[in-house]
Amino acid sequence: MAQQQMGNQPLIVLSEDSQRTSGEDAQSMNVQAGKAVAESVRTTLGPKGMDKMLVDSSGNVIVTNDGVTLLSEMEIDHPAADMIVEVAETQEEEVGDGTTSAVVIAGELLSQAEDLLDQDIHATTLAQGYREAAEEATAALEEIAIDVDEDDTEVLEQIAATAMTGKGAENAKDLLSRLVVEAVRAVADDDGVDTDNIKVEKVVGGSVENSELVEGVIVDKERVSDNMPYFAEDADVAIVNGDLEIKETEIDAEVNVTDPDQLEQFLEQEEAQLREMAEQIADVGADVVFVDGGIDDMAQHYLAQEGIIAVRRVKSSDQSQLARATGATPVSSVDDLSEGDLGLAGSVAQKEIAGDQRIFVEDVEDANAVTLILRGGTEHVIDEIDRAIEDSLGVVRTTVEDGKVLAGGGAPEIDVSLSLRDYADSVGGREQLAVEAFADALEVIPRTLAENAGLDPIDSLVELRSAHDGGDTGAGLDAYTGDTIDMDAEGVYEPLRVKTQAIESATEAAVMLLRIDDVIAAGDLAVSHDDDEEEMPPGGGGMGGGMGGMGGGMGGMM
Ligand code: ADP
Ligand code: MG
Repeated sequence: MAQQQMGNQPLIVLSEDSQRTSGEDAQSMNVQAGKAVAESVRTTLGPKGMDKMLVDSSGNVIVTNDGVTLLSEMEIDHPAADMIVEVAETQEEEVGDGTTSAVVIAGELLSQAEDLLDQDIHATTLAQGYREAAEEATAALEEIAIDVDEDDTEVLEQIAATAMTGKGAENAKDLLSRLVVEAVRAVADDDGVDTDNIKVEKVVGGSVENSELVEGVIVDKERVSDNMPYFAEDADVAIVNGDLEIKETEIDAEVNVTDPDQLEQFLEQEEAQLREMAEQIADVGADVVFVDGGIDDMAQHYLAQEGIIAVRRVKSSDQSQLARATGATPVSSVDDLSEGDLGLAGSVAQKEIAGDQRIFVEDVEDANAVTLILRGGTEHVIDEIDRAIEDSLGVVRTTVEDGKVLAGGGAPEIDVSLSLRDYADSVGGREQLAVEAFADALEVIPRTLAENAGLDPIDSLVELRSAHDGGDTGAGLDAYTGDTIDMDAEGVYEPLRVKTQAIESATEAAVMLLRIDDVIAAGDLAVSHDDDEEEMPPGGGGMGGGMGGMGGGMGGMM
C-alpha cells in the first residue's frame, strides 16, 4: 500500500517517480489495453482474413496474417496488453495454431466483462463465473470431438490444409499439406512428434509447387574447395564445433626473424600443423567434415588431397541436426576426434537448387530427420508460407499426439456457446451472468469469420444457432458463400487442443487482468499518445495512454 496513516502523518512508501492507478480506473485501463490488442489482429481471422504489413524501425517489412507474428512484431509495451500477447505465445508453443482466435476470445471476454462491471457485478464473481464456464466449455468440446486415427492420411491432410486457409500457402495447399503430413509421419515415434526434427529450408526462386520433402538434412553451404569431391557415398561424417585453423597466440608474441631460413621454418611449422589436422580427420576415416568455424586455406588444400568434403561456418542448429540425423558426436577440436564420433549418411552431395549450391545429407542413420524445401518467388512470400507451414506442422503434430479434432468454421464455438447457456441456468445468482457473458464471448469467432468475409454477422449467427439447436454439431460458416454448411463433410478440421488451449489461456489472462485493482509502476509506464487521448480512462495519469506504448511500434502498420 502506498500510504498508511501513522498518527496524522501519511506514510509514503512509494518513490516519487512511480505511478499508480487504482480501482475502476485500473480495471478499465487494463480492459481497454487488452481489447485494443485483440482488435488489432481481429481482421486477420479466418479464410477471408486480411494480411497486415509491418515495418520495423530499420525499415524491414513483414507481410503476415499470423497472430503471434503480428503481436510479437508490433513491439507492444503495455503490461496489460503484454498479458494478452502472452496468450498468443502460449498458444503458439502448445499447439502452433489458433493464436489469433485465442487473442480475439481474450479480448471479447474482457469486453463482455466491462458491461458486467458497469452493472456492479464484482470482479471476483466474474472471475469465478468465467473459470467455471471455461471448464464447462472444455468439457463440452471434448464431448463433440471426433476421433482421428493417426494413420488416416486424408483427415490429417485436411487438418493441415485448414491451418493454411487464408494464408499465402493456400495456393499450393494440396501439395503442401501432403508434405506436412509426410514430414510429421517421418519424425513421429513412441515419444510423440518432435517438430524440431523437421527442418524447413527456404529457397527463393521457383514456385511453391516445386517444394519437396527430403529425408535427411540440407545445409545451406557449399564445400570449401572446388578440389573436393561433389559426392560421397556411404559417408562417414565428422562434426567439429571449432576451427580448423592455427590458434592465434593469446598474447602479442613478437617473433623475431633474423634470416629467411627462420621465416621458412616458422611457416613450415604452421603448415605441418594444418597438414596434421587434415591427416587426423582422414585417419579416423571421415569422408565428410562439418565445421562450425573457419577452415584455413592450407587445411582446405590437404583435406582436398585426402578426398574429404569439408564444409565450414555451419550454423549451430544445422550442426545439431546433422549430429542427430547421422548419429555423429560433435567434438570441439580435431585432436579429440575418434572413430566412434563419426556418423553415417548413405549419401552426401553438393547439389544446386534455384542457382544456389547446398549440401544434401541423405539416407541417414536415423530417418527421424527430414527437410522440407520450401520454394517461392520472393523472400516475403516464402516467409509467410513458412509461417503457415509452421502452423500446419503444429496441428498435424497435435492431432497425431491427441487423436481428437473438431469441425472448424465457428462450429464448435456456437455449439459450446449453446451448451453454456443451458448450463448457466443451473448456476443461478450473479455468476450466471458471467457464464452467459462467456457464452456470448465465444460467439466472437463465428461473428468475426462472418464480418471478415463481408457477411452480415447477425444473419450468420442466427442461422448457425438454429442449425446447432437442431443437433447439427458440425454446422459452420462457409466464408466463401456465406452458407451454413456441414464442416465435417467439407473436411475443415482443427485439433481439439487448439480450441481448449485457446479457451484456457484466454480465460486465465482475462481473469488475471480483471482481478487487478491497483497498478503501481516504477517510472513512466507508457508514453502517452495524442490520438488515444479521448480513450484515456479518467485519472489514469501518465499510464492512461492505454496502448500508448504501441504508438511507436505500430506507427508503420498499415
Ligand atoms: P488462428 O490464428 O486463430 O488460427 P486463422 O486466421 O488461421 O486464425 O483462422 C482460424 C479460423 O478460421 C478457425 O476458426 C477455423 O475454423 C476457420 N477456418 C479455417 N478454414 C476454414 C474454412 N475453409 N471455412 C470456414 N472457416 C475456416
Ligand atoms: Mg490458423
